[in-house]
Amino acid sequence: MPADAQFAVGSVVFVPDEQQAYLPKRVASCTGLGARTKLTVGPLSGSGGAAVPAKDVADVVDADPLALEGAQDMVKFSNLTEAALLHNLRTRYSRDQIYSAAGAILLSVNPFKQIPGIYTDEVTRRCQEADAKALPDLPPHVYGLSENAYRGMLGEQKQQAILISGESGAGKTEAAKACVKYICARSTGGGGVGGGAKLLRQGSHEEFANPILEAFGNAKTLRNNNSSRFGKWTEIHFDAGGQIRSARSTSYLLERSRVVEHARGERTFHIFYQLCAGATKQQRDALKLPPAGELRYLGQSASLSVPGIDDAADWRAVCAAFSTFQLTDAEQTSLRRAWRPAVGILTLGNLAFDAKEMANADDGSCVSPASQASLKAAAAALDISPLELETALTIKNVGKFPVVAVPQPPEKAAVARDALAKALYGSLFDWIFGRINEKMGAGAGAALGGGNKRTIGLLDIFGFEAFSRNSLEQLLINFANEKLMQYFNIYIFQMEEKECRDEGVACPQLQFADNSAVMVLLEAKPTGLMALIHDEVLVPNASDANLLTKMNEAHRGASMYRQMPRAQGEGFVVLHFAGEVAYAIDDFVAKSRGAVPSELSQLLGTSQLPLRTMSFARHRGGGGARARLGGGGRKVVSVGRQFQESLDSLMGMLHTCSPHFVRCIKPNHHLAPDDFDGAYVMRQLQQMGMVHVVKARKQGFAHRYDFDTFIARYGYLREGVECDA
Ligand code: ADP
Ligand code: MG
Repeated sequence: MPADAQFAVGSVVFVPDEQQAYLPKRVASCTGLGARTKLTVGPLSGSGGAAVPAKDVADVVDADPLALEGAQDMVKFSNLTEAALLHNLRTRYSRDQIYSAAGAILLSVNPFKQIPGIYTDEVTRRCQEADAKALPDLPPHVYGLSENAYRGMLGEQKQQAILISGESGAGKTEAAKACVKYICARSTGGGGVGGGAKLLRQGSHEEFANPILEAFGNAKTLRNNNSSRFGKWTEIHFDAGGQIRSARSTSYLLERSRVVEHARGERTFHIFYQLCAGATKQQRDALKLPPAGELRYLGQSASLSVPGIDDAADWRAVCAAFSTFQLTDAEQTSLRRAWRPAVGILTLGNLAFDAKEMANADDGSCVSPASQASLKAAAAALDISPLELETALTIKNVGKFPVVAVPQPPEKAAVARDALAKALYGSLFDWIFGRINEKMGAGAGAALGGGNKRTIGLLDIFGFEAFSRNSLEQLLINFANEKLMQYFNIYIFQMEEKECRDEGVACPQLQFADNSAVMVLLEAKPTGLMALIHDEVLVPNASDANLLTKMNEAHRGASMYRQMPRAQGEGFVVLHFAGEVAYAIDDFVAKSRGAVPSELSQLLGTSQLPLRTMSFARHRGGGGARARLGGGGRKVVSVGRQFQESLDSLMGMLHTCSPHFVRCIKPNHHLAPDDFDGAYVMRQLQQMGMVHVVKARKQGFAHRYDFDTFIARYGYLREGVECDA
């Protein structure tokens, strides 16, 4: 290469590309250095070339030979760039090698097809039998990562955490299932264990817990036909011999609003369609279940059935799962009762309210005459009085002495109906979750982490979300992702430091473009966004507009916060680590309050269904700030605060764990196999901090060679021998 040219003719470089982010090209000609570089490139094989536009030249990088090959561990690249990372994934993906490693981080690209031979007993055995030296060199795999966690759990006497992240449809839940499957297979044999452990060991976790949890917690969305609408932390506890003792899951942020509304082309939770498609005539009659086509909550977008999903078969799987649960008769009866609240929710959805009716009725109720049958059906399913249900939905009691009954207009009654449906479903979900935990031997009340060091935890939680319209749900999800990103950053930093220590070199100052500024914006007290949202729930004149004003006042000029441009509506913009997100302020306060009107929660207390034990109140006893709302000296816990507290406890525990990261990547928008959309993948690599890992490395020791490679390349300098390498 001439000394005055940036790239050698004939060498391979990665060139920016609009659709594919970067593509490898062969240098046809190159003159000049730096800003004066003039470059033409052509295909890898063949001749010819075209000029690289001046604006792109600065982003052209030498291609690492390992990236062109599709190497299994990208940390081994001597020239680790984001382009190399991307191309390496692309090359491996084209060979159906969906897993790659970047040091201790496992990357997984969703194949959207079954690849034969990747989850076989043979692969399990290979991971299990590999000695400490061989294990890191095995082809990257979730099984290998799970094996590492398992050995860490036994050897380090430290809790292990497998943290799975990625956007919706990237393969997180499938990866988590594969980890659990491996760990179950790994921990076989031994005796004297409880029923929960037995269930887990036999792989029954897959067989029964998953179909149930997915039926109640998953839905078809535009991004994933089987999208988990809740986050999940699953802990598996072991004894000193490495045998599974028990397991326990905690759920986060079930998307309850999906019960009452879903976007076009999506559906509400699977269980409702399964019930309608699968229940026998006898069951339908007993439950008084109307046909699916008549249920408003189901059919808002007419996607009652989805190609590739057999709701009736899934219903049978859920019922079978309930039976393998080894339940007592009483428990079976109690579980079957879960269908009644489900039917209650569906029939509630058909209640319509009408202003004309309100004017005519003696009691001011606005339930339309056509809805009387639905009212009766809902009340019967929920085991409450229809008259009292009607009153609770349509009349509000105001004041204390005397209490004044104020008829509610149709819009308010509809909000109360939907709030009730969402709360019922949330409670039903928690109740099912609790039953599964009990069966897994952990007990519903077991603490997070539980103090047992012999634990492997798995986190499968929503990735960063930025839709055209974002609300409180997205803010909470993105807040969780910021926290996990912070954790990831700390881990990467420590890993770089450790490597320097191991190599005996001084660790360079690493400047992390960390997310502490946005963390302060979100969680500082008392003016962080989370605190402001919580406090607004407590004030008597709470409103979305007041909340927005307080946010704007507290954060005017802050680097990570902006008011939303008027043209886009009322709201605010947060500059998240993964990108900018505009949040519409509408309904923040109501969503944050999350509570069911007190008239309704009192009424449900009279039901004989398991609902009775379901908690509706968002009030908690105990000290701390006394809320003005809620009365009785009880503390009001807003949805946001509740989430923040559970997230804090999760993070506190994670900081004592050895982490194992799985970064899941979705190769294209349309869930298609064999289709790698480079620009889309690159955006995910940026959002999940992988590009950041590359940058951290560049600031430190960007080029790392093992001794032999280094001598082969640069040994001539010492010997004073000219070398043509
Ligand atoms: P996420 O939990 O990230 O939203 P899922 O794990 O539900 O995504 O995966 C979405 C879909 O992608 C699955 O239903 C399945 O069809 C496909 N998929 C994911 N991982 C794999 C895999 N390892 N092999 C084959 N198909 C997969
Ligand atoms: Mg999922």
